[in-house]
Amino acid sequence: MLFCNACTNQINVLEKNEHSENSNPFPIEPILILSSLNYQDVTMGETISLNIETNNDDEIESIHVLIVESGKPYDNETDVYYPSDDYFTGYNSYIMPAFKAGEWDYVAYAITKSNKKIYSNRVSIRVIYPDITFIQEDRESPFMSEMDAAWDEMLASSNAKDHCRREMGFIIYMTVSDIIGEDVIFYAGDLVYGRTNCSCSLPPNVTVTIDDEIIMGPDLPGRYAIAWFHTHPVNDCCGGGRNVGASNEDEMEAAKKELPGLVYDYVPTFGGIVDGYTDRNAEHVIYVFGPKRRTFK
Ligand SMILES: [Zn+2]
Repeated sequence: MLFCNACTNQINVLEKNEHSENSNPFPIEPILILSSLNYQDVTMGETISLNIETNNDDEIESIHVLIVESGKPYDNETDVYYPSDDYFTGYNSYIMPAFKAGEWDYVAYAITKSNKKIYSNRVSIRVIYPDITFIQEDRESPFMSEMDAAWDEMLASSNAKDHCRREMGFIIYMTVSDIIGEDVIFYAGDLVYGRTNCSCSLPPNVTVTIDDEIIMGPDLPGRYAIAWFHTHPVNDCCGGGRNVGASNEDEMEAAKKELPGLVYDYVPTFGGIVDGYTDRNAEHVIYVFGPKRRTFK
């Protein structure tokens, strides 16, 4: 009898243990590991690809991604951006466009079945503005017609008899779409007319102003200036040569704006100078100056 009692107790203990194991009261706490296929800088409009791995799928209810400025905390909900879950392509693959220039940390987080929030490691990605080389190629620039129109307008509003000169300009923008695979759009902003100066001692100038769409987060599409363009004036109404290409003021403006500059100006008659009273229809070319791409702080 004693033996049998002991035996029954033993069976009860075993059954209890088995039952406990099935409901798993001490599950392995899942961890998330985030990695990126982007090993170097990503240009705005390009694709950011992230992989998310976990050691315990069964305990995870849902996975999401957040973005925060590089090095900033993400657990106090301030300046934390939550891109759409639509960017998940499958269980562990996440692909979204790079919307906004800056240094960003991507972090995956999961809600577990026991309603806990767990975070992955940070993945830092630097999103940069496009290199403007593609708009520098003379006569092949996608903005050739806009630049030519600005030049023609500059000529039309310059008057050699009264020494009246004027410059024109515009900003070049890019728009990043939130649809994967949709091309980035580059376009010229409105033509800006500089003030007309009817004096040989007053060089004309034109001021173009960056008009970015104000998008706070790196998770939404927006419009951003990537370069600025202006024409230089005719030199057919005044004596004395002048330097061609970017002036000192232009160089300073490009540095201040942190924006690449393009200027349409005459081919030099000699040594970087266009002579006074040069025919207004003389050959003109694009000069490039300032940073190669827009910079960000
Ligand atoms: Zn200038």
